[in-house]
Amino acid sequence: MKFQKRKGITYFQKGKNPQLLIMSGTHGNEYHILPTVVSVVQEMESILPSFMYIPEASPSAVKQKTRVNGCGHDINRGFGKLVDPEVLALKELISPLSHVLGISFHEDLEFQEFYFYDTHSLGSEQLDTFRKQVKELKVPLRTGFDQPDDPALSYAIKEGYIDFVGAASKNGQFIEDWAMYHGHFTRFLTFEIPYKHEQVALLVKNCIQLALTLL
Ligand SMILES: [Zn+2]
Repeated sequence: MKFQKRKGITYFQKGKNPQLLIMSGTHGNEYHILPTVVSVVQEMESILPSFMYIPEASPSAVKQKTRVNGCGHDINRGFGKLVDPEVLALKELISPLSHVLGISFHEDLEFQEFYFYDTHSLGSEQLDTFRKQVKELKVPLRTGFDQPDDPALSYAIKEGYIDFVGAASKNGQFIEDWAMYHGHFTRFLTFEIPYKHEQVALLVKNCIQLALTLL
């Protein structure tokens, strides 16, 4: 994969009209999975449709290995209105995208269990199939709360899934709130990967495959 760089943000693009955006490295303390995501995306490149891949959405946070970036911001809180050169660079990079499905890889550093957020809602059959695939990897699915102390979250997770998260909004909390408001994304999935799990690469692959079924 030949990466390009724009205003400090490294990215890869296959084809001219991406249908899919793959991101990771939004929170710099969630850096463990970054090399895994790179290798899985590389492995899947030939079977993926036109897509954009941003391995480090917040390069300064990844460099520091901290949740906040070089300007002291958690870029995924108040993304729509943050005054921050890195946020502006990311907005500029995302802006040419139109109606893509976005997915982002995070790590919940507290629980070694898998769960994911969806701005929309999966059909029960599709969700069951995906849960089965995850269970086959012996990855536990989280049931319970995500981050009760985080006012932007505090969602109840059921068997690894939370639907209808966030809302399209100009000044929204999350990257996807802003991007959906402006028509760059149609839907967004945020995967919380238990990075210590030995099947982490296959789990990441399953997540991307799930996204492909939604295109
Ligand atoms: Zn995160």
